[in-house]
Amino acid sequence: MDRGELLYEGKAKQVYRTPDPDRLIQHFKDDATAFNAQKRGTIVSKGIVNNRISEVLFGVLERAGVATHFVERLSERDMLVRACQIVKIEVVVRNVIAGSLATRLGRPEGEALPEPILEHYLKDDALGDPLLNDWHIRFLQLATPDELAAINATALRVNAVLRPYLDARQIVLVDFKLEFGRHHGQLLVADEICPDTCRLWDKTTGHKLDKDRFRRDLGAVEEAYQEAARRICGVAA
Ligand code: ADP
Ligand code: MG
Repeated sequence: MDRGELLYEGKAKQVYRTPDPDRLIQHFKDDATAFNAQKRGTIVSKGIVNNRISEVLFGVLERAGVATHFVERLSERDMLVRACQIVKIEVVVRNVIAGSLATRLGRPEGEALPEPILEHYLKDDALGDPLLNDWHIRFLQLATPDELAAINATALRVNAVLRPYLDARQIVLVDFKLEFGRHHGQLLVADEICPDTCRLWDKTTGHKLDKDRFRRDLGAVEEAYQEAARRICGVAA
């Protein structure tokens, strides 16, 4: 499938049209941003790793009956996906306290949660992706109540599928962000699932295999992405 017109350039990816109006190409870049793009940098080969890991994890979800936008990986950095109208909500599922939740609730990073916590953020860089509750979502008409119920149930199902998959690969799924898209009346898990959008900790040492290494200047960023790819895909990217 050939790349057509550049539809959108985001922080980590470019989105291109294809000859088929129902299909888009996501091109994965090495660009890295954090803290609402105040911090910028490059993680060498990140695009390749994120494309591969997303391919594998979308495949795991599809086989578990979760509908996603994934069609096929076309090349090192290009993925063919179903064209969606993206729901402007970033859905976060948390199994362990980390990042902004530790700050917001004043609890230590690493505290295991007795049940997953689900959060919604407005997908709006200009506003800094603020936290939303159900009333905000209704007021802003970001999703219908039925859509929101389906989004929440699917997000928890994704967690239930990915947690054991990653656990078997010696990775704790601490938390992750999902985006959903509307495609011919169907709700699909869209965007990417990778070390940019998940917190992945080594099961025995707690070593971080995700974008927190970049956010917090922990070093060995590329090595961590490669290690995540090795464990999740069975090969280095
Ligand atoms: P951003 O800076 O907005 O996070 P990215 O660099 O992640 O952007 O580029 C991917 C963009 O494409 C995102 O805005 C995402 O919402 C959107 N997107 C992801 N999957 C699809 C899809 N299947 N159809 C349409 N848009 C998509
Ligand atoms: Mg993005």
